Amino acid sequence: MNSRTPTIGIVSLGCPKALVDSERIVTRLRGEGYALSGDYAGADLVVVNTCGFLDSAKVESLEAIGEALAENGKVIVTGCLGKEEALIRETHPNVLAVSGPHQYEAVMEAVHAHLPRAHDAKIDLVPEGGYRLTPRHYAYLKISEGCNNRCSFCIIPSIRGDLVSRPANAVLKEAEALVRAGVKELLVISQDTSAYGIDVKYAESKWKERAVRAKFYDLCKELGEFGVWVRLHYVYPYPHVDDVIALMAEGKILPYLDIPFQHASPRLLKAMKRPANQDKMLERIASWRRACPDLTIRSSFIVGFPGEAEDDFETLLDFIEEAQIDRAGCFKYENVAGAPSRELADHIDQDEIDERFERFMEVQTELAHARGQAMIGREIEVICDGWDEDAEAYACRSKADAPEIDGVVYVESEREIAEGVIFEARITSAEGHELTGRRAV
Ligand code: SF4
Repeated sequence: MNSRTPTIGIVSLGCPKALVDSERIVTRLRGEGYALSGDYAGADLVVVNTCGFLDSAKVESLEAIGEALAENGKVIVTGCLGKEEALIRETHPNVLAVSGPHQYEAVMEAVHAHLPRAHDAKIDLVPEGGYRLTPRHYAYLKISEGCNNRCSFCIIPSIRGDLVSRPANAVLKEAEALVRAGVKELLVISQDTSAYGIDVKYAESKWKERAVRAKFYDLCKELGEFGVWVRLHYVYPYPHVDDVIALMAEGKILPYLDIPFQHASPRLLKAMKRPANQDKMLERIASWRRACPDLTIRSSFIVGFPGEAEDDFETLLDFIEEAQIDRAGCFKYENVAGAPSRELADHIDQDEIDERFERFMEVQTELAHARGQAMIGREIEVICDGWDEDAEAYACRSKADAPEIDGVVYVESEREIAEGVIFEARITSAEGHELTGRRAV
């Protein structure tokens, strides 16, 4: 790379949605001829994409800004915490510019102002599929921004605004480009994936000489035609979710549903103002499993929400056991600044929250153990994420494992396995969510 090429460092914090924002910024920067640097010293300025979801995330973001200022000195801040510009400027008066989530234009304007570009279209071609911060073989596909719900513990709608769905053909075009660029797994994300298209009244758009509706089922069906793994995240259990189970059973999309239930007690769900009627949820899950026996359900839950009585908590434990939630994440309730739940009565003592968390994790660990043991001896399809030095095996994932958040399948193989290769492995042992196996010939 030419030493005079203006060079930018990117620090990306927060959730996969923020990661997609970072990827868009990186794609724009490379498209305009900027170089990227993996360290502060090699960069002319640094863009910090922040998270502001929880108070702990805010602290982490402010620390990251401070570190970038100390190490580099020229810092542009963007992302969710950018909504709190006063806080950022009070803590770090020397930042060059501040913008909010998915304000790519504002980031580019700030970059142009502080580090003029040197574009050379002949040299700086953006590859098909854009630049991504995930490994080459999987990519996040964001289908909408914002959220129409108002869960009482959440400040995302106040940061990201109401639901804005992308046209179906724009999503499919991006998916096609990613697949052409070598992606083997598409991870569909948004704040509320199954609400896709509600804001645009399921508007049709033209894709490959036909009209496709901006509708959850229609989009899943189309994505299933690309012949790669398609994994659905943040799916609320609206009634129409039942329809995509058939696509999973047919093998069109992965038999995997990431449904953030958050709780199981009707009283608590009401206080949380959760979307989607969760009545008869156990019956629905049972019917999903009948239709698609390999279905994996990942979910996250909050313990210690204001007003959570022992009864409510036991309802939650019973639910994860009866529903056999395959991957259950647990969060301790946090009194996030700006969240309506702060105003609720009967906040739970931290000791009690900690104790419930431990009890939740005990049940979760038992479920994970039983699930792991049931996998021993099975032959399953896995995707290779690369060689793991510590494990001295290939780190792979089954259809039941989303990257970063779920388990790993460590596979021994005499033959080299490239990243992104999907192959059969025989499971030989299990510990928690980690499985070990051998490549099946
Ligand atoms: S569905 Fe609820 S928790 Fe999720 S982003 Fe919307 S308001 Fe927040």
